Amino acid sequence: MSKKAVIIGAGPAGLTFAYELLEKTDISPVIFEATEDLGGISKTVEYKGNRIDIGGHRFFSKSDKIMQWWLNILPLQKISRNHPSPQPSPARGEGEIDPEKTDKVMLVRSRLSRIFFLRKFFDYPISLSTATFKNLGLIRVIKIGLSYIKSSIFSKKEKSLEDFFINRFGKELYLTFFKDYTEKVWGVPCSEIKPEWGAQRIKGLSIRKTILHAIKKFFSKNSGLSQKDEETSLIEQFMYPKLGPGCMWESVAQIIKSKGGEINLGQKIVGINSKDNKITSVLVQDTQTGKIIEHRADYYISSMPVRDLIAAMGNNVPSEVKEISDGLKYRDFITVGLLMKKLKTDMPDNWVYIQERDVKLGRLQIFNNWSPYLVKNPDNIWIGLEYFCNEGDELWNMPDFTEFAIAELAKIDIINKEDVLDSIVIRMPKAYPAYFGTYDRFDEIKKFVNTFENLFLVGRNGMHRYNNMDHSMLSAMLTVENIMNNVKSKDNIWDVNAEDEYHEEMEN
Ligand SMILES: Cc1cc2nc3c(=O)[nH]c(=O)nc-3n(C[C@H](O)[C@H](O)[C@H](O)COP(=O)(O)OP(=O)(O)OC[C@H]3O[C@@H](n4cnc5c(N)ncnc54)[C@H](O)[C@@H]3O)c2cc1C
Repeated sequence: MSKKAVIIGAGPAGLTFAYELLEKTDISPVIFEATEDLGGISKTVEYKGNRIDIGGHRFFSKSDKIMQWWLNILPLQKISRNHPSPQPSPARGEGEIDPEKTDKVMLVRSRLSRIFFLRKFFDYPISLSTATFKNLGLIRVIKIGLSYIKSSIFSKKEKSLEDFFINRFGKELYLTFFKDYTEKVWGVPCSEIKPEWGAQRIKGLSIRKTILHAIKKFFSKNSGLSQKDEETSLIEQFMYPKLGPGCMWESVAQIIKSKGGEINLGQKIVGINSKDNKITSVLVQDTQTGKIIEHRADYYISSMPVRDLIAAMGNNVPSEVKEISDGLKYRDFITVGLLMKKLKTDMPDNWVYIQERDVKLGRLQIFNNWSPYLVKNPDNIWIGLEYFCNEGDELWNMPDFTEFAIAELAKIDIINKEDVLDSIVIRMPKAYPAYFGTYDRFDEIKKFVNTFENLFLVGRNGMHRYNNMDHSMLSAMLTVENIMNNVKSKDNIWDVNAEDEYHEEMEN
């Protein structure tokens, strides 16, 4: 009888693992997914023919393997001058697929994201343009320049994210553009966040790089899709499935099923049993009926949040590990989809960072600009208002959230309330694993889970790491290779997005 692998979660990591396992081995994958959806955080939610991407997912990776993997599932679009998406052609050469004829196609999109602050738009990342100087005003610009010089001479020891920002941008620029937004995202002061978060999210960005980028951009207009040498926050083109990221993961799931893999939705892992250094079974609860069934396998691959995994392991966990795991923190996320007749200003952006201090709104997505096919009626504007919060807090529990969100957007002059046609609220728990709480002792959890030779942690919350889709997928791919080659150490999996080679894309 062939061996079996139980996979927890049908997000990018779990689905990639199952797909690769079927391609490369005769081990049978059985996925258990707690929700009714495929794709995890990278799913697409359909609402009356309009589609929402939770967070706006760029398909970009510095790993050619990942880029090619995606294109094997959804081939690249053919670029036509008359096409509704007025996008530049990809550096890799045109695809053959006409997006008008099939939904299974990858579009090529240009990136535009700006900062909205002082009721004005600024380039993102901040550029050294006359518009920036004009918007900021002379006094602010002088202050920024002087504080940047000061921080270049007296750099601080980096104990927190605040130190990380100040060392790279100077205190004044940090206070103007980074502090409030970052604190909106995380809900804690930057001085309490570990500098590693900055290193992962905006690695390598600095004033010096911004100047170099401006010069480079001046001499070379088209940077193309590959962009391996670009700093992660400066990437200007990306691929995007015609019907949103969920289409990628639904297509992968279809292939898995067609090859005999099992995907069980509405099935939540609630218990994990072990003996000595092996996992022996998992307890799976049907979310509709509450019935629990025990499943055994040879391998167990987890993309569920580490805190939940350790809790499911019950009494077999040493008390110090349990304490660290209970102290792991997450940040949760609410998106409000608004269907609009029009906006007050034309917005060509994919997304806009809302830096204004008088609203809680963090970011605004303009879905028409991700893919025109996400919007049912091309005359409408379909936008996503993104809020960062903690599950159970005031924002999360607010009953009339849509009205609150509409009022905020009207307050900062982006819409007229009367132009709202329809709306939907989506809550996404544990969107971000946090680098505070007990995170600095995470190695003790890692050491403990590594003792189970048939247990593999993959993905974003699965490894409690700020992983994008590509990192999540790479961790799954390496796990398949380790199983195939009987490699005992899991170090190469933990090294994804921790080593330079994998230091890739920043998340929006
Ligand atoms: C706002 C935002 C923007 C982003 N933008 C980008 C981007 O532009 N590009 C990019 O590449 N990435 C982006 N990402 C990151 C991307 O969403 C993740 O890297 C990716 O979804 C992680 O995949 P995963 O499979 O590890 O985890 P998830 O997507 O979280 O999937 C895990 C799955 O496990 C299931 N699960 C959890 N607990 C259990 C349980 N007990 N039993 C069974 N199933 C369980 C969950 O329901 C979920 O379906 C973004 C993320 C956010 C929040």
